[in-house]
Amino acid sequence: MIPPKDAKRQTENLGPVVACDYCNYGEETLGGVLIGSYAVCGDCTKSSKILEEDFEDKEHIVEIWDKEKTFKENVLEYRKRTTGTEDAIKTIISW
Ligand SMILES: [Zn+2]
Repeated sequence: MIPPKDAKRQTENLGPVVACDYCNYGEETLGGVLIGSYAVCGDCTKSSKILEEDFEDKEHIVEIWDKEKTFKENVLEYRKRTTGTEDAIKTIISW
């Protein structure tokens, strides 16, 4: 469904919060990957075997993040690089 032009857009700035899209935690784990639009923490990357040779959805891996850095550092860096801010912006559209 496409919202009409006069839809109300409410944005909420959540600040520099980071949560793994698989487990909702993972800030302090190391590394992580971006797969599709999902940011996955270091632990879930391991437990879901994302970086293993026979992982099925390999073509969806967008970025593999630095294991010397925490998942949080990596996500904030990525956000800054792609959106210009480290903050998570939540947009609620209603009509
Ligand atoms: Zn996780």
